Amino acid sequence: MSCAFDLAHYRELLEAAQAGGYTWAEFDRLPEPGDLFLRHDIDLSLEAALAMGRVEHELGVRATYFLMTESVFYNLDSPAGLQTQRQLRQWGHAVGLHAVYPRAELDERFDSVIAWHNPDPEYMKEPIVGAVNVMESPYFTPGRYRSDSNAHWREGCPHDELRAGSFEWLQLLVHPEIWVYEGETMGETMRSMLDAKRAEWLEALAADRIDVGA
Ligand SMILES: [Zn+2]
Ligand SMILES: [Zn+2]
Repeated sequence: MSCAFDLAHYRELLEAAQAGGYTWAEFDRLPEPGDLFLRHDIDLSLEAALAMGRVEHELGVRATYFLMTESVFYNLDSPAGLQTQRQLRQWGHAVGLHAVYPRAELDERFDSVIAWHNPDPEYMKEPIVGAVNVMESPYFTPGRYRSDSNAHWREGCPHDELRAGSFEWLQLLVHPEIWVYEGETMGETMRSMLDAKRAEWLEALAADRIDVGA
């Protein structure tokens, strides 16, 4: 099995977790044996979030999507932003806030759970008043956490361990952009994403009755 960052292997990863007997858990209770906290920090693309959410929905998987209110790359109040929130909820996913420190400002769009964007070590694991911090203890426990950050599994792709049920429980952080857009490296993947965004923005310009010509 090749551990490519693409949706085919993502599906295999989810199926491995199902074969390993894991339960799809949300951050609304403490970890229990067999829990899999599937976490998505949405840094760059709502379209990628929806593509990943669709695969999960097809497999009966529930995840927690952390959306930003201060993103440079997308707008939650846009039609696409509203549609993304509606669709993720309809598929049964939880939605938390991907917050920029120190603003932990939850509103009715979010469950009471926060993941800091690019946190510094000083506050990364500190409790937050009125919300769960996904990196506070015990949600973050060394050996029970895996992340695909920058298209690199520091401790290896977890599909074999998931299939074998080797983790007592796990928090698995997956960034949809890395898996949805094509590329062998993070750079290639980001260039694919930019091509997709260019096409989306050209459509948005046309919808605003701006003709950019050929
Ligand atoms: Zn793998
Ligand atoms: Zn982030």
